[in-house]
Amino acid sequence: MAQQASKSVALDRIDADAPMFDPNAFRLGEEQAEIIARARELGQTVFASRAAAYDRDAKFPTENYQDLHRAGLLGIAIPKKHGGLGADYETYSLAAAEIGRYCGATALTWNMHVCSTLWSGALADDLDMDAAIRAEHERRRAVHYKRIVEDGAVYSQPFSEGGASAAGGVAFGTEAKPVSGGWLVNGKKIFASLAGHADYYGVLCTEVAAGEKASRRNTLYLAIASKADGISVVGDWDPLGMRGTVSRTLLFKDVFVPDDAALMPRGVYFQAATRWPHMFLTLSPTYVGLAQAAYDFTVRYLRGEMPGTPPVKRRMYPTKQIAVAQMQIKLEQTKALWYQAITEAHANPTKEQVLRAYAAQYSAMEGANEIATLAIRTCGGQAMLKSLPLERIYRDSRCGSLMLPWTAELCLDRIGREALYESGESDD
Ligand SMILES: Cc1cc2nc3c(=O)[nH]c(=O)nc-3n(C[C@H](O)[C@H](O)[C@H](O)COP(=O)(O)OP(=O)(O)OC[C@H]3O[C@@H](n4cnc5c(N)ncnc54)[C@H](O)[C@@H]3O)c2cc1C
Repeated sequence: MAQQASKSVALDRIDADAPMFDPNAFRLGEEQAEIIARARELGQTVFASRAAAYDRDAKFPTENYQDLHRAGLLGIAIPKKHGGLGADYETYSLAAAEIGRYCGATALTWNMHVCSTLWSGALADDLDMDAAIRAEHERRRAVHYKRIVEDGAVYSQPFSEGGASAAGGVAFGTEAKPVSGGWLVNGKKIFASLAGHADYYGVLCTEVAAGEKASRRNTLYLAIASKADGISVVGDWDPLGMRGTVSRTLLFKDVFVPDDAALMPRGVYFQAATRWPHMFLTLSPTYVGLAQAAYDFTVRYLRGEMPGTPPVKRRMYPTKQIAVAQMQIKLEQTKALWYQAITEAHANPTKEQVLRAYAAQYSAMEGANEIATLAIRTCGGQAMLKSLPLERIYRDSRCGSLMLPWTAELCLDRIGREALYESGESDD
């Protein structure tokens, strides 16, 4: 009898923190599932309760980064032989979605950090380099990986400049002039998440020798020490959402950057951007997590099970049930398409795979906000108070469409054009 009672209590509550991608349903490997579970548990048990304060004060989640380091997750995509967890693109993406579910700003900034290791790691391994250059790259990346694994160094990824460069249209305006032993870097980066908080800024810039014209082919990816002379962090940071990212402006004035700072050899970033397009899909996991969070919140709230709110049930109203059905369908569509896309990340994808990656990005970025919008309408007035996470999820989710180079608009633009024109075709 006692056993039956406890069973019915267990059945009466839902597990709103179950894995977003069930390891059995999505046929994940044991090691993969363990890494993703590690991220989810940290998000659920630690990051969720800190998220409101980071958001309110637009404060960088420093404490979360200390926890990510302790859990080995700063090195999630660092190869095992360099002391990391050796996660591949898919595993990282699924883990990042779980973090995004609990703290959008932590997931988004963690993405900037992880990309420094993923792009210089598994992605670079998939690209062409001759043996000598590959050996040099191996030596250099070991320096970066050691700092991260042993010292908890945090890397960021400022590439936006306010014009067409971050959209991939023209060469980066931040320039690196070759000098003895390295480069002198000059320029400006806007929306530089982790500004003032990262130990290294992974700056995309154009190598321009005297008398040369700037070219996208000469893009360099340099990890510049944040303490280097000539760097300043300027401007304030008081945005709508993703407030904990602290994406202020970075200025570089004659900053000397040594050769070893290169996260990729010459020419390899350009090769990656043209041959490994899924590198730009890595901003999406955060938003898939936010979409799940908005849905989870709604189910819990309508069942009267949201901690900190009276146990009032609202689930019996047909209009609310229909809204939840719409949210669930949208969420499943987003997750299914996105999952397919992240499993297809490799060099030289087919045209169909590239179009699917754009569609997945668009669906995650717009879908998260659509689901959050429905969640607010459906749950009702008390649900959007700042004492609950839904309004933060809603504000954070609105930022997804703005992320270059794959903004929602640019995804539509490319899908439309590339679906209708084969490479080299024109109507002239
Ligand atoms: C919370 C948050 C965190 C961010 N963190 C980072 C970060 O860590 N690193 C980083 O590099 N960036 C970051 N960004 C910046 C982001 O990726 C974009 O670069 C930024 O939002 C663009 O702002 P903008 O006003 O310059 O955009 P826009 O003016 O929309 O775009 C800039 C340029 O892109 C081109 N463009 C834009 N839309 C189109 C279109 N439809 N068709 C053709 N061309 C177009 C145009 O040349 C335009 O001038 C962050 C943004 C946010 C909101």
